[in-house]
Amino acid sequence: MVGQEVKRIGVLGGTFDPVHLGHIHLALDALKEMDLDRVIFIPAWLQPFKQDRDTASGRDRLAMIDAAIEGLEGLESSSIELDAEGVSYTYLTMRELRKKYGEDCRIYFITGTDAFLKIETWRNAGELLTSCGYLVGTRPGYRQKELEECMERVSRIYGTEVRNLHNDRFDISSTEVRDRLESGEPCGDLIPEKVERYIRENGLYK
Ligand code: ATP
Ligand code: MG
Repeated sequence: MVGQEVKRIGVLGGTFDPVHLGHIHLALDALKEMDLDRVIFIPAWLQPFKQDRDTASGRDRLAMIDAAIEGLEGLESSSIELDAEGVSYTYLTMRELRKKYGEDCRIYFITGTDAFLKIETWRNAGELLTSCGYLVGTRPGYRQKELEECMERVSRIYGTEVRNLHNDRFDISSTEVRDRLESGEPCGDLIPEKVERYIRENGLYK
C-alpha cells in the first residue's frame, strides 16, 4: 500500500452517470489550487437521495471514470463504495479512507455548489463535517450568497475548513448528457471522447 507518503488527498464522490467534463475540471482545479497529491473519484453504489432512479451499473460508471481520467496525472478512481454495495453514505466512506491513509493525512471532500448546500442533511452530518475539509466548486445556476452563508455556518458550527475553489465553470450535468444521448444528439462538448466511445460500444443510455 502506498498510503504512508500521501499527505493531501481530495475525494470527489457522486453518481457519475456518466462522468462529464464538469467533474474532470473540478477535480483538476482542486488538485492544482490546493496542491493535492491526488484526487480520487468515488462512484456511489446507490446515492441516498437518488434511490428511486435507475442508473448505469456501478461497473460501467467506474469504467467511464477510468476512461476519462486515463493519462491525467493525479486523478484516480476507487471502487470502495461499489464494493460495499447498498446505500453509499459518505461518513462511512470517510471512516474507511481515514483508516487507509492515517490520521496525519489531510483529506478534502470536493463537491459542487448544489451538493454542498445540502450537506447538513446528509446522514451523520456531525461526524461527516468534522472528519475532513471541504472544497466547494462553484457550479453555474446556484446562488453564491446562499453558498457563502452555508460555508460560514458549517465552519462556525463544526470548526470545519471549507474553501470555495476558483474553478473554471462548466454548465454541464449528467442529466443533460443522458437527455441528449436518449434523443440521439451529440454530446462531444460535454464528455471526453473516450467516455462517448464507451457509451456507444456498450449501448448505454438509449
Ligand atoms: P445529475 O444531473 O445526475 O445529478 P451531476 O452532473 O450533478 O449529475 P453528480 O454525479 O450528481 O453529477 O455530481 C457529483 C459531484 O460533482 C457533486 O458534488 C456535484 O455538485 C459536482 N458537479 C457535478 N457537475 C458539476 C459541474 N458542472 N461543475 C461543478 N461541480 C459539478
Ligand atoms: Mg447531481
